[in-house]
Amino acid sequence: MKINGLKKKALWENLTCKCNHDDIEQCYPIIKCNHCKFQQCWDSVPQKNFTINEFDTKGKKTGTKTIKEITLVRGSIEDIIGWTF
Ligand SMILES: [Zn+2]
Repeated sequence: MKINGLKKKALWENLTCKCNHDDIEQCYPIIKCNHCKFQQCWDSVPQKNFTINEFDTKGKKTGTKTIKEITLVRGSIEDIIGWTF
């Protein structure tokens, strides 16, 4: 998998985690913690090739396609908003 838009360290990674990891009730997502929120977004980015189904204009499955390259879409503090292929 090739990932376009990788950074050594994105700005959001400098945010301080506000979670108390000794108490699950004081951790994201129960509390608001941007660090963990953006970490979760990052963790949802596929790291390996994956396969999607392809359909014709009538919605009939025509086959599958292997995705080997994605491009990251980043927000204002370089957080991951999404990714495209
Ligand atoms: Zn946190």
